[in-house]
Amino acid sequence: MSLTLTVDGPLWRSHLRSVADANPGLVPVAKGNGYGFGLGPLARRSAWLGVDTLAVGTYDELPEVASRFPGSLLVLTPFRPFSTLPSVSPDRLIHTVSRASDLVVLLAHEPRARYVLELATSMLRHGLDRGALLSLGALSGRCEGIALHLPLGTGSHLPEVERLINDVVGAGLAPATIWVSHLSDSELASLRSSYADFTFRPRIGTQLWLGCRSALQVTATVLDVHSVKRGDAFGYRGRTAPRAGHVVVVSGGTAHGIGLSAPNGASTLRARAATMARGGLDAAGFVRSPYTIDGQQRLFAEPPHMQASMLYLPGGVQAPEIGDDVAVRVRFTTTKFDHITLT
Ligand SMILES: *Cc1c(COP(=O)(O)O)cnc(C)c1O
Repeated sequence: MSLTLTVDGPLWRSHLRSVADANPGLVPVAKGNGYGFGLGPLARRSAWLGVDTLAVGTYDELPEVASRFPGSLLVLTPFRPFSTLPSVSPDRLIHTVSRASDLVVLLAHEPRARYVLELATSMLRHGLDRGALLSLGALSGRCEGIALHLPLGTGSHLPEVERLINDVVGAGLAPATIWVSHLSDSELASLRSSYADFTFRPRIGTQLWLGCRSALQVTATVLDVHSVKRGDAFGYRGRTAPRAGHVVVVSGGTAHGIGLSAPNGASTLRARAATMARGGLDAAGFVRSPYTIDGQQRLFAEPPHMQASMLYLPGGVQAPEIGDDVAVRVRFTTTKFDHITLT
């Protein structure tokens, strides 16, 4: 009765190991829903990988990982005067600081605080700009380096990173470590050779945990199957079947993050107009679901319910049996699985 993630353990572990081997200084990122796996399991897996630092998104996430991962814990969301700090030893905690005034508050609160200084990038999310960097002066506390959060896949990041590192050197700060996000392998290799005095530490989530999709299989259970004639009503909204076929009830609904629009569905207006012109089923208001039955992604019979979804199968399609597993495409970062099975 569940939405299940089945992980091919040997394949997944060998992928994790190969990402770690290819990225010396790797800092795994475990945040949010733990990329579908949960924060605790990712913390334990990071300990198994043998890395010395794990990154979490927020201070609130620390308690879930602190007892499962023994090393340093980097918080990616910048410290603010209103941040609620957890009871983790200051020797293990690495704060992200993105404003000079926050550094003053942090050090007043914890003079031995470890921190990284985040610089503003073209992301324009958080970070010190050049002027703020220059105004910092000598750093107190334990500065562990500079953090750069770069946008995803927007061509080469190198000119921007080089400019920022030059700003750091120009400001007279010479921290040995640059913590980076979203650089490609070749960009990292190039930076390591141009700036041999610095250590670059890539912070990686998606490519690490979700980079080997063939190791990850998501399935739902067929909970019920009803054969319908044209005009038969079903569902919360009393919709009627446009043609004879089946209504199939599968596990997985809004509580699991199953959305009305499936990833990779035909989404453009033009594609939709073309389907309507052909008199396709979405002309009757059906939307493509992420569930695959008999080799195709099927249509929702109506919007997903909280823990189950109703699908419409047109006549001629082989209906599944109650208890069968069906494949589901999900976005892992927004999915809550009922079960995770490691093979
Ligand atoms: C989430 C996050 C990451 C990891 O991002 P992925 O795309 O999942 O690898 C890295 N750095 C920062 C600052 C983040 O917030």
